Amino acid sequence: MPSKRRSAPHTPPADPPWLSALIRQGATRRPQCFYDYFSASGGSCALGAAMEARTGSTNVRRGLEALGAELPALFSTDNLLTCPLDRHQVDGRLRRFLGLSGLIAHLNNEHGLARERIADWLDSLGL
Ligand SMILES: [Zn+2]
Repeated sequence: MPSKRRSAPHTPPADPPWLSALIRQGATRRPQCFYDYFSASGGSCALGAAMEARTGSTNVRRGLEALGAELPALFSTDNLLTCPLDRHQVDGRLRRFLGLSGLIAHLNNEHGLARERIADWLDSLGL
């Protein structure tokens, strides 16, 4: 995992690999799976689809290594986010997810939201 804080401010690449576009691109390559980046039966979840589209890899370890410094920009790993689809209450408080990747995994796995719909939602956020 990359360090949570970097001394240099985050500057997006000149030609950013928009996460929504990567998910859409990867989603064309294989069916959707759940609770894993890639399934033994040949599927990919929303995050797996983005990883494959960006790195060409369906090996999670190699894919994460290949993403390297792009990970914080792509997945916003240090923000707490609330689900846009529901209002989970845990002990009277909204359930929150660590980072965009955590929320995308939740939408993919627990809501069963199609990867293209997750991409639509990211589009609405400019991601
Ligand atoms: Zn939810």
